[in-house]
Amino acid sequence: MLTSVAEAPRRDRPAYRNFAVTVARVERRSPTFVNITFTGDDLADFGTAGLDQRVKVVLPLESTGFASFPDGEDWYTQWRELPGELRNPFRTYTVRAVRPDEREVDIVFACHGDVGPASAWAGRAEPGDEIVLIGPDEYGSGRTAGIDWRPGDVGTLLLAGDETATPAICAILESLPEDSVGAAFLEVPASGDALEVRAPEGVDVRWLARDGGTHAAGSAGRQVEHGALLAPAVRDWVVRHLADLGVTRAGGDESAAALAAAERADLPDTPLWDVPAGQSLDGACYAWLAGEASVITGLRRFLVREAGLDRRQVAFMGYWRRGRAELE
Ligand SMILES: Cc1cc2nc3c(=O)[nH]c(=O)nc-3n(C[C@H](O)[C@H](O)[C@H](O)COP(=O)(O)OP(=O)(O)OC[C@H]3O[C@@H](n4cnc5c(N)ncnc54)[C@H](O)[C@@H]3O)c2cc1C
Repeated sequence: MLTSVAEAPRRDRPAYRNFAVTVARVERRSPTFVNITFTGDDLADFGTAGLDQRVKVVLPLESTGFASFPDGEDWYTQWRELPGELRNPFRTYTVRAVRPDEREVDIVFACHGDVGPASAWAGRAEPGDEIVLIGPDEYGSGRTAGIDWRPGDVGTLLLAGDETATPAICAILESLPEDSVGAAFLEVPASGDALEVRAPEGVDVRWLARDGGTHAAGSAGRQVEHGALLAPAVRDWVVRHLADLGVTRAGGDESAAALAAAERADLPDTPLWDVPAGQSLDGACYAWLAGEASVITGLRRFLVREAGLDRRQVAFMGYWRRGRAELE
C-alpha cells in the first residue's frame, strides 16, 4: 500500500530518471508487434500517467553493457561527452502499460528488421535481458511530462498514426470517457497487426493494413507505400465530418509561412513536432497525428490548409523519419 507521503510530488526527484530493468516476458502479438514486459524493484515508482507518455529505451553495449551509461538528471549531457564507443544507443518508445504493484512496465515494439538497434534488440529479446529505461517517476517533479495528448474539452476526436503510434493510440483509446466520439485510424504493415483494443462505442477504430488486408490496392498481395492508406482514409473521414469538426468553410487561414516553420521536412535535423501547448480547447475537434514524419506532415497540412482546422487543434509528431536513424 502506498502512503500519502510517498504520493506527494517531490521536487528532489526528477520528472524522468533511469530505471534498471530486466525482460520478464516477450509476447509476439502479431507479425509486427512484440510486447515486452520489463520488471525491476524500482518500477514500483514508475509513472502511471499513461496515454502517449514517452520513454527512452537504452540498449546495452556488447562489451561493457551499461557500465558507462550516466545516471542523474543531466545524463544526456554526460552521455554526449563520452567517446563514441562508450555511448549506449537509445531510442524513444511509448509506455503501453504500467503495473506498479507487480513492478512491471510493458512496451510494444513495432519490429522493422535489423536495420536499427532498437528493432534488432526487440526482435531477439529474451527473459533475463537487461536494459535501462529513462522514464517518468510517479513521485517526481512532473509525472505528466512527456505526454502530448491534450484534447481539452472538445466534441470530436481524431487520432491517426502508423505502427509506431499504435501503442500510444491504443493506450489513449483505452483511457477515453465512454461518451467520447470520433475516429482512430491505424495504418499497420499486415492485416494480422490489428490488435485488440477497447474503445468507446462512439469512436470508430479503423485498422488499415498495407499488405492489402483492408484495401483493394493491396489485394494482389503487394505491400503498399507507407502512408498510402492513412492519408486517403483520414481525408475521406474529415470531408464527411466537416460539420462535426466545427469547420464552416473549406480552406484554413494559416499562412503558408507559418505552417512551413513547423514543417521543414527538408531539414534533416529539424524535429517535426508541433503540439498545442496547454490552451483549453472546447467545442470543436482535436486531432492527434503521429508516425513517419513526411506522412504526418502531409496529413497536418491537409487538416489545416484544406479542411480549415485551427492549427491549435492539431498535434502532430514525427515519430521517425524514413531513411534516417533517430537523432540521439
Ligand atoms: C514519442 C515517440 C514514441 C514512440 N513510440 C514507439 C512505440 O511505442 N513503438 C515503436 O515501435 N516505435 C515507437 N516510436 C518510433 C521509434 O522510436 C522509431 O521507429 C525508432 O527509429 C526505432 O529505432 P531503431 O533503432 O529500430 O531504428 P533507427 O536506428 O532509429 O533507424 C534505422 C532505420 O530504420 C528506419 N525506421 C525506423 N523506424 C521504422 C519503422 N517503424 N518502420 C520502418 N523503418 C523504420 C529509419 O528510417 C532508419 O532508416 C516512437 C517515437 C517517438 C518519437
